[in-house]
Amino acid sequence: MAFDRRGRRGSSREGGERGGDRGFRRRREEPARAEWIPRTELGKKVLAGEYSTLESVFNSGRKILEPQIIDFLLKGQLTEEVMEVTSTQRMTACGRKMVMRAVVLVGNRSGYVGVGMGKAPESRDAINEAVLDAKKNIIRVRLGCGSWECGCGQPHTVGREVHGNNGSTHIWIKPAPRGVGIVAGETSKKVLELAGVHDAWSFAKGRTRNVLNMILATISALDSLNNLKKGTDAQSEEETDAGAEGGAEGGAAGAPQSSVSDALQSAASGKPGEENGANGANGADAA
Ligand SMILES: [Zn+2]
Repeated sequence: MAFDRRGRRGSSREGGERGGDRGFRRRREEPARAEWIPRTELGKKVLAGEYSTLESVFNSGRKILEPQIIDFLLKGQLTEEVMEVTSTQRMTACGRKMVMRAVVLVGNRSGYVGVGMGKAPESRDAINEAVLDAKKNIIRVRLGCGSWECGCGQPHTVGREVHGNNGSTHIWIKPAPRGVGIVAGETSKKVLELAGVHDAWSFAKGRTRNVLNMILATISALDSLNNLKKGTDAQSEEETDAGAEGGAEGGAAGAPQSSVSDALQSAASGKPGEENGANGANGADAA
């Protein structure tokens, strides 16, 4: 099985149909790719133009369950990066079974980044799965100029120092002045690049060689940039949280939504690390 490390979705058609099973899957996927038929309420609203930017979707506090929403709103902006493809063997009743696991990053180099994992017998399918998963896991990264040595006000680094971890893997990301570049390990550097961070200092601790752990730690650090910035707002509106759910439903139909949904969103993303981990696990189960 020839495996192209840069094999993207586009190249998946070159191989043509192989087994009956795979052919069936592909035929089912084709129309969805050419012409998106949304299956979630949010998807329908995005297609109808109710949300014109990804920012407004995030503000609505809704969870993105369809990768096509990201495709639709970030058309032509996304970069996909295959970070790791590993193979694992499993003993089954009929012998050994190979499973490929792919870890893929997607980002628009301007404030959005996500990681996904996919498992499949073929690495190409694993990568495709991972890309879809990564799109669903995209987070918003609040860029800024948090460096007192710089103070340019441009969104080239993080707004303040943040910490993130995944298990025993920890990372601290610090704002850096313009021109410093990204001072980080290979893996977290890639995450920061795809998120649109141009300058940052970082320090990592723990199992930094584990690619997935390192990515999840970095993303959780970047995500905490999101949460705490709104922390004060969320606190004051915590009491209205119960009512907020109904409010957001109505809000999506065009009513005022920013403050209520902000509270909802920060409540929803309370534990970014765990959330990411859980998503990764789901991906594993699905494959
Ligand atoms: Zn600056």
